[in-house]
Amino acid sequence: MNQDSTKISLTNRSKVVSNKKMTLMERFYLPAIFKGMIITFKHFFKKDVTFQYPEEKRPFADIYRGLHVLKLDDEGRERCTACGLCALACPAEAITMVAAERKEDEKDLYREEKYAATYEINMLRCIFCGDCESACPKEAIFLTNRTVPSEYKRDSFVYGKDVLVEKKNARIDVSKRQTPEVLAFKKDKSKSHNK
Ligand code: SF4
Ligand code: SF4
Repeated sequence: MNQDSTKISLTNRSKVVSNKKMTLMERFYLPAIFKGMIITFKHFFKKDVTFQYPEEKRPFADIYRGLHVLKLDDEGRERCTACGLCALACPAEAITMVAAERKEDEKDLYREEKYAATYEINMLRCIFCGDCESACPKEAIFLTNRTVPSEYKRDSFVYGKDVLVEKKNARIDVSKRQTPEVLAFKKDKSKSHNK
């Protein structure tokens, strides 16, 4: 049986290693070293592809999926109604919350009758897929172009409302994440997602 017929090639990039004897010139190695130096020298004149982080930061896309924000409405009230859809949609089971009923004197704090008394995201579990944002019927949670800072303790990566809820005096613009198609869909009350 022909042995070659049993060879299986996974890619077409394999190269046969040659056992041929080196010529006198090849045994000097100098031409090969000189060739390598030319390649290195050429790179001196090429544009840098590296960033001097943290002084220099790589620009992120407007729709980069980074650290979440829990949005307030125009009147500064929390939009989240603790419906749990984001937690249900989360493939990493990173979101937990405890719902509470809004009191009469809390109408300027929470937009809906039910709100999240606690809302936590475990950033070590999160894979920044954005499913929580897509699932939210209240436009309460968005991912942003901010990154999660490094920490020394695992517990520090469980972010609560103190970190996630946006500050009244430091609003976070998420308009770039809301394409006209998304906005049109979310206004369509015939869709069960928006009820
Ligand atoms: S971005 Fe994805 S993994 Fe992270 S909390 Fe949202 S749904 Fe879960
Ligand atoms: S889906 Fe939106 S409204 Fe519902 S709990 Fe999550 S963030 Fe809050």
